[in-house]
Amino acid sequence: MMRSLAELTTLRVGGTPNSLVIATSESEIIDVVSAKPNALILGGGSNVLVSDNFHGDVIKIESQGFENDESACAGAWVTVAAGHNWNDFVATAVANGWTGIEGLAGIPGTVGATPIQNVGAYGQSVSETIAQVRAWNRKTKSVDTIFAADCEFGYRSSVFKTNPDTWVILSVTFQLPLGTMSAPIAYNELAAKLKVELGDRVSTSELQTAVLELRAGKGMVLDSADHDTWSVGSFFMNPRVATAPENAPHWPEADGSLK
Ligand SMILES: Cc1cc2nc3c(=O)[nH]c(=O)nc-3n(C[C@H](O)[C@H](O)[C@H](O)COP(=O)(O)OP(=O)(O)OC[C@H]3O[C@@H](n4cnc5c(N)ncnc54)[C@H](O)[C@@H]3O)c2cc1C
Repeated sequence: MMRSLAELTTLRVGGTPNSLVIATSESEIIDVVSAKPNALILGGGSNVLVSDNFHGDVIKIESQGFENDESACAGAWVTVAAGHNWNDFVATAVANGWTGIEGLAGIPGTVGATPIQNVGAYGQSVSETIAQVRAWNRKTKSVDTIFAADCEFGYRSSVFKTNPDTWVILSVTFQLPLGTMSAPIAYNELAAKLKVELGDRVSTSELQTAVLELRAGKGMVLDSADHDTWSVGSFFMNPRVATAPENAPHWPEADGSLK
């Protein structure tokens, strides 16, 4: 029997699709997207709200695996298949001594979805470590390599989000510095949890554990037994303002505003 979108999304709502194809390789993704250009692309279903009246075609991306080309100078240059689980990849990075994404532990969904809204949490975002994205261009019917500088990354935004009908992401390449220490901690709540000062560094595994504990305390780690975690994460964004009230935590944005 056809699985409903309620079974494939973390909000657990959504109708039964007309068709559901599980694509497990790049060539399969390209073939099926070419055959069904208007299909809904689904990764882990953790950032979509689907109507009960939705009955369209769905392509679920489940390609797996990664390749690492590592050197002492460049660090780890890791290309990850779009359907690979994001949190599993973060755990792999921490275990292998690849730094820069440990603060993004516990975010559900797939690697291929992370560039779309420039996934971020606890002072890190994927735009800081993404080198390039390979994607099937539905308009030109060709594979594009989009370098980070052309991804138009912003706060929870990218060229992929602003052009939703153009690309289907096939893989994401990260350039991750080698090491076992985190970047300086830039997030008050995380510094307090780790009992360190802002700007201090801890091991990447300590930081990963602290983030997972903080997230679990807020119902932000998916747990099928805990209804409070059946969500799409935060559904608000921090406001961007010209000036922040005194003592309010704030972060500078590229356009000069404060988040
Ligand atoms: C408990 C919880 C906590 C969360 N915490 C955070 C957080 O801290 N920070 C944060 O930024 N987000 C967070 N999220 C949101 C979500 O996990 C991320 O946005 C994640 O990257 C979505 O991945 P997904 O594979 O589930 O995407 P899906 O929900 O399957 O898809 C999201 C969108 O991307 C498109 N898409 C998916 N894969 C592809 C692809 N390969 N090519 C083209 N388009 C594609 C879909 O069509 C859809 O429009 C959280 C969600 C939950 C449920």
